[in-house]
Amino acid sequence: MESTTTNVKAFGTPAADATLAEMTIQRRAVTATDIEIDILFCGVCHSDLHTARNDWGGTIYPAVPGHEIVGKVTSVGSAVTKLKVGDHAAVGCLVDSCKVCNSCKQDLEQYCLNGWVGTYNGKDKHLGNQTFGGYSEKIVVDEHFVLKVPSNLDLAATAPLLCAGITTWSPLRHWKVGKDSKVAVVGLGGLGHMAIKLAKGLGANVTLFSRSPGKEKDAKALGADAVIISTDAEQMASARGAFDLIIDTVPYIHDLNPYVDTLNINGTLVVVGYLGGLEPILNTVPMILGRKAVAGSLIGGIAETQEMLDFCGEHNIVSTIELIGMQDINDTYERMLKSDVRYRFVIDMASLKSE
Ligand code: NAP
Ligand code: ZN
Repeated sequence: MESTTTNVKAFGTPAADATLAEMTIQRRAVTATDIEIDILFCGVCHSDLHTARNDWGGTIYPAVPGHEIVGKVTSVGSAVTKLKVGDHAAVGCLVDSCKVCNSCKQDLEQYCLNGWVGTYNGKDKHLGNQTFGGYSEKIVVDEHFVLKVPSNLDLAATAPLLCAGITTWSPLRHWKVGKDSKVAVVGLGGLGHMAIKLAKGLGANVTLFSRSPGKEKDAKALGADAVIISTDAEQMASARGAFDLIIDTVPYIHDLNPYVDTLNINGTLVVVGYLGGLEPILNTVPMILGRKAVAGSLIGGIAETQEMLDFCGEHNIVSTIELIGMQDINDTYERMLKSDVRYRFVIDMASLKSE
């Protein structure tokens, strides 16, 4: 246990049915391998909302969400080599893992066999309580889990790369998407818009499936080659057998079967949004008759996250954002629930510090 801690301002919720409000949390003293970051911007992920409202069960209160963090290094431990005071730094969804299991040894810390530690609502190995995320002034993180930010990218618009970016990059890389690939994305929100930008960056042909006809123009502006309105049976039928990879970002239970029909032979539908049992049931017939797969994927490892950030630096890819103040967070969650996201909210953390 650490001997000293620092009080920092944060924004969080004491219960599933409460609104988020200012509170004080503790950050540990910087150890030899730690980096202390003054948080400048934090993206707002739908997972923040799921956690604040205990949608998945298991939220420990108070909960301070936020795992798309960009800031400035204010202190480093004696053994730190990755960054120095004054550098920009980023933290995503992971702040710790065992580092020795089979998954960690393969740079797949997000699948740590001994349990990865989430940036929020994880088990803090230092202070013993739950971890607190980026809706706060400062964070202290082991250097292994801190990322370098390409110097040419806008800092606020880089924040969403740390979750929305890596969560869509990881399946694009795992399923080897490139110039000859036909990719589709289900849902145009934070993850969806990054999936379009990154798949285009890799040279793929990209289609968006959306329930929202109003988003067609935006999707094209973000790089989509085509848009299919998923509630239109005729449009869905016209896409039969079309895609090598589909990334499904929808946060709530929905029918996957119509999307399986739009996969090419050997195609894969990767679910990254909804967690849980399916309804209606998934029919195996089209999977067997077309050697198709339905898979899942969780964020990405640290090395892969750095690879994605470097790729974004080289290709000038950032998120399309709406900057908000910390005090707007409760209204922002209501807008997310209405799919009124264009296309990632990012909190300007100066708004918390000036309170
Ligand atoms: P978001 O910004 O709210 O976007 C979700 C989009 O899905 C919406 O804009 C909407 O797009 C569509 N949608 C929403 N509700 C729907 C419904 N009931 N039926 C059909 N479509 C619906 O959310 P996000 O931040 O991108 O996160 C998406 C999901 O991924 C969340 O559940 C989040 O927890 C999860 N997530 C998973 C990982 C992982 O590692 N696997 C990482 C981060 C987040 P249209 O208007 O275009 O239909
Ligand atoms: Zn997230």
